[in-house]
Amino acid sequence: MGLGAHKTGFVWNERFMWHITGIAAGVVPAGGFVEPGLFHIENETAKRRIRNLLDVSGLLGQLEQIEAESAQLQDLRRVHTDAYLERFQAQSAAGGGEVGEKAVVGPNSWEIARLAVGGCLRAADAILDRRVANAYALVRPAGHHAEPDQGRGFCLLSNGCITVEYLRAVHGVERIAIVDWDAHHGNGAQKLYYADERVLTISVHEVSNFPVDSGELAETGQGEGAGANINVPLPPGTGHHAYLAVAETVIAPALSRFRPDFILVSSGFDGSLYDPLARQMAMSETYRALSATVRASAEALCNGRLLMLHEGGYSEFYTPFCGLAVLEALSGIRTEVEDPFLAHLSKPVHSIRDEQAAVIEAAAALAAQVPTTTLRRKNTHDTSNQRS
Ligand SMILES: [Zn+2]
Repeated sequence: MGLGAHKTGFVWNERFMWHITGIAAGVVPAGGFVEPGLFHIENETAKRRIRNLLDVSGLLGQLEQIEAESAQLQDLRRVHTDAYLERFQAQSAAGGGEVGEKAVVGPNSWEIARLAVGGCLRAADAILDRRVANAYALVRPAGHHAEPDQGRGFCLLSNGCITVEYLRAVHGVERIAIVDWDAHHGNGAQKLYYADERVLTISVHEVSNFPVDSGELAETGQGEGAGANINVPLPPGTGHHAYLAVAETVIAPALSRFRPDFILVSSGFDGSLYDPLARQMAMSETYRALSATVRASAEALCNGRLLMLHEGGYSEFYTPFCGLAVLEALSGIRTEVEDPFLAHLSKPVHSIRDEQAAVIEAAAALAAQVPTTTLRRKNTHDTSNQRS
């Protein structure tokens, strides 16, 4: 073990911030009656401010910095089709355009997206090699909406799924759980692993936000993957205590039953109550609690192997406090920073409403049905042999 073995790893590269999404109002390009002068809502500011707050809080210096390097084509090919990769590369080389639904590409986006994937892979290496205890990759562009043959929802390459396939192919990791708490559905992982019993996918998101046609409770996996896909489609307005209930009654029990060898988190902060792209009411403490839950699960189940990949989060002023809370929870280091926005929140927004409780109870029932591992079945069998 090296000196950083007990530290939390952190991936950052200034290049991630140079992915250009253009001039737009929200997600609508400027032009016609849309006055120019604003940037596309998926721009670098919120992410850069997370890193800046980590810096001024003093936490950044206590994290193990992990250098990103461009992912190999063979890494991307484990998830994406050649046709899509060629189209993306060509579009980027041509100076920009779209490579799927709400998937804007600028000049150099191809190179930057590959660098972002490479950062995720190096973080996975560092965790598997025990150079760090766990890690957070503050990458951009995000990945959880990207699909094998198209970009979607500001996501160009599937950072998470490419990492899963890398863990399997290069490190021989067998069972991987993906916990996605971005406010939008983790459609990419669901699509790829719907029939795969070795990847548990859990997505906690706002119902019918994006993509509008996926992420329902009834989507539970198929074939060998039946029961290994859990959606928690929360109604708009869901706040802190409902998220805590999801952590305690859905995420933790599902992970315990599944017994992963590695936990990946798609970490988006667009469920915060200040976010312009969702209508949820989470706060920094919510993300701290979610992080503590998955960290505890990782330590109990898989030697602490936990990698968080950054996804959405569009409140420029609030996202940094969510990011800091997560990095504090991952590293176990509490800085002197207090979230100054907490004083402005009122209690009622955080209570659990009946329609939220109904969804959480239904998801908890699914968590209680997650297929248990072969290993556990073998152990049970062994135990009965010893008894007989
Ligand atoms: Zn999102």
